[in-house]
Order: sequence, then C-alpha cells, then structure tokens
Amino acid sequence: MIRKKVLVTGGAGFVGSHLIDRLLKDGHEVICVDNYFTGQKQNIIHLMDNPYFEYIRHDITMPFFIEVDEIYNLACPASPVHYQYNPIKTVKTSVMGAINMLGLAKRINARILQASTSEVYGDPKVHPQREDYWGHVNPIGKRSCYDEGKRVAETLFFNYHWQNNVKIKVIRIFNTYGPRMHPQDGRVVSNFIVQALQGNDITIYGDGGQTRSFQFVDDLIEGMIRMMGSREDFTGPVNIGNPNEFTIKELAEKVIELTGTKSKIIYHDLPSDDPMQRQPDISLAKRELNWEPKVQLNEGLLKTIEYFKSTMNL
Ligand code: NAD
Ligand code: UDP
Repeated sequence: MIRKKVLVTGGAGFVGSHLIDRLLKDGHEVICVDNYFTGQKQNIIHLMDNPYFEYIRHDITMPFFIEVDEIYNLACPASPVHYQYNPIKTVKTSVMGAINMLGLAKRINARILQASTSEVYGDPKVHPQREDYWGHVNPIGKRSCYDEGKRVAETLFFNYHWQNNVKIKVIRIFNTYGPRMHPQDGRVVSNFIVQALQGNDITIYGDGGQTRSFQFVDDLIEGMIRMMGSREDFTGPVNIGNPNEFTIKELAEKVIELTGTKSKIIYHDLPSDDPMQRQPDISLAKRELNWEPKVQLNEGLLKTIEYFKSTMNL
C-alpha cells in the first residue's frame, strides 16, 4: 500500500471527521483544514495524538499552500440554518474556496473531490433525480446562497478540468445523517432525535408530506473513497445517496417509535423553497463505483440515537 498525503477541508465537521477516521485507518496521512464555523474540536479530538494527523485552523476563502496527493473539499456549512446565517459567506466559501482548492490542485497536480449536493437539483421537477437533470433552483431564494454556490463550484471544477487538466471528482451527496452531527445542527434527523430524547415537541415544518431519502454516513464515506479511487477519466458528477424515500412525517413517527419518547408532533410553517421531494437515482454510482448503500433507516437511526444518548448524557 502507498501512504498518501490527503488534505480534507471541513474535516472537523460531521462528514469530514468520519472521512478522516477512514483515511487514517486505511494508512494515509491526513491534514485537516477547518475554521470551526460548524465543526467541533470534539469530532477530531481522538486524533490529536496520531502522528499521521495534523490540524490547521484556516478559512478556505483564503489561499492555502501545501503538498498533498489528494484533496477532499468539504468545507461549507450544510444545514439550512447555518448556511443561511451568513449567506454571503456561504457563497464565498463555496466559490472562493473552490477556486483556492482547484488552484492548489492544479499547482501540485493532486486529485480533488468536491462534496457537491442534491441541492443542485433544487425543488426537482424530475423524480428520482439523475445526474443529467439540470435542476430547478430559485437564484434569489433563501437557499440559493448554498444551492447556487455549490452549482458554481461544480462549474469551476469542470472548467479547471477542461482548461487545465485538473483531475476532478464530483459527487452529489443526498441527505446524510449519523453520529457527530451537532445537536443544534438544525437538520431534520438530529433535530427529531434530540427533541425525542429530551421529551420536547417534535417540530415538523409544513404538513410533513415532503420527502427525503436518508443515507447513513458510513455509506457516504465508502462512496467518497471509491470515487476518489475511480478511473481517472471518470469525473462524475455522481449521486451518492440512499434511494429509500420517506416523508418527514414518517421519519418523525420512526424516531418516536425507536426512542420510545412521549414527545408529541407539532407543526410549523414550511420554510420558503423547501424541496417537496428528493430521491437519488444511483445507477451511475452502481455501474462506475460498484457502490450502493448498505445501512437502512432503522439501523442507522438506532446508531445515531445511541450516539446522542451517550454524548448528551441521556
Ligand atoms: P458540517 O457543517 O458538519 O461540516 C462542514 C465543515 O466545514 C465544518 O467543520 C465547518 O467548520 C467547515 N467550514 C465551513 N466554512 C468553512 C470555511 N470557509 N473554511 C474552512 N472550513 C469551513 O457539514 P457536513 O454535513 O459535514 O457537510 C460536509 C460537506 O458535505 C459540505 O460541503 C456539504 O455541503 C456537503 N453535503 C453534506 C450533506 C449532508 O447531508 N451531510 C449533503 C450534501 C452535501
Ligand atoms: N424539517 C422539519 N423539522 C425540523 C427540521 C427540518 O420538518 O426540525 C424538514 C425541512 O423543512 C425539510 C426536511 O425536514 O423539508 C429536511 O430538512 P433538512 O434541513 O434536514 O435538510 P434539507 O432541507 O436541506 O434537505
């Protein structure tokens, strides 16, 4: 095995920290760059004594120079609550961050993977979503700082590839959950579990009829590793998600059942531009990466519930 030097931006976040664990387990050397906007030291604290792990506090809207073999570009707040907190900064992180990381990849001839998102499909009019669907995004809506930022990042990735031969890999991640989500992250799975464990009301936005397809984090990490290792001329974009689709009401009922909580469901207004449906078509990932998700919702939710119970002392 060849020990590679790997840069992970956003490595102190939920997905990034799991990716780093996997890369170190596979015998690589990892440099984590994060500005701790939504990440937590707690997610990487267990790695601080590992001589093959290095942490650098840095904001990727500023240039960064290092010699590595591979770059995973994950830095960007992912929860609607956090990416809408400072929308201009969210655009800067996606766009200037992509320019900085692509410039670095070009200079050092590294492979670079972009953590793009199902949000590039917006509120999709095609269902399930395939990679050749261009999406339905409101360019001036509340979610556009994230959606359009990620769309421009994809544009930059492909133009650096065509113009400068940068070795790119683009994955479109669908809703992912699991241990190490921040309890106040604001995304639906962590919100419902934390509310259920604390005996608080479970907050459904809208009537709960909107759908999402939830992927457990371990499956995503396997997909990311396979994508980075795929044949050089396979750039993506490729969907990485679990095609099992649930309504938000069904998710709430499952969390209530699995936690055994006495919490009641309450209804709030649906945020603007909230997509009504979302489900990945993963035939491309199956074909090119021989990848498909293994962990289904009940099993993944139980693991996540256990995590929140242990970290919140419940
Ligand atoms: P997260 O918020 O837990 O992690 C993002 C990390 O990026 C945090 O540690 C944060 O501090 C860091 N960060 C933010 N702005 C930064 C900047 N300017 N410079 C340096 N670091 C910065 O979110 P996550 O769920 O782990 O998502 C990771 C990536 O995957 C994101 O790019 C996200 O868009 C993408 N993604 C995630 C999901 C999902 O469901 N989890 C779905 C689609 C796409
Ligand atoms: N949602 C909800 N209650 C919450 C948090 C979210 O009903 O406490 C809904 C939200 O409106 C959306 C879905 O759950 O329809 C998924 O939301 P999340 O923020 O997790 O991700 P995204 O909307 O980006 O897919």
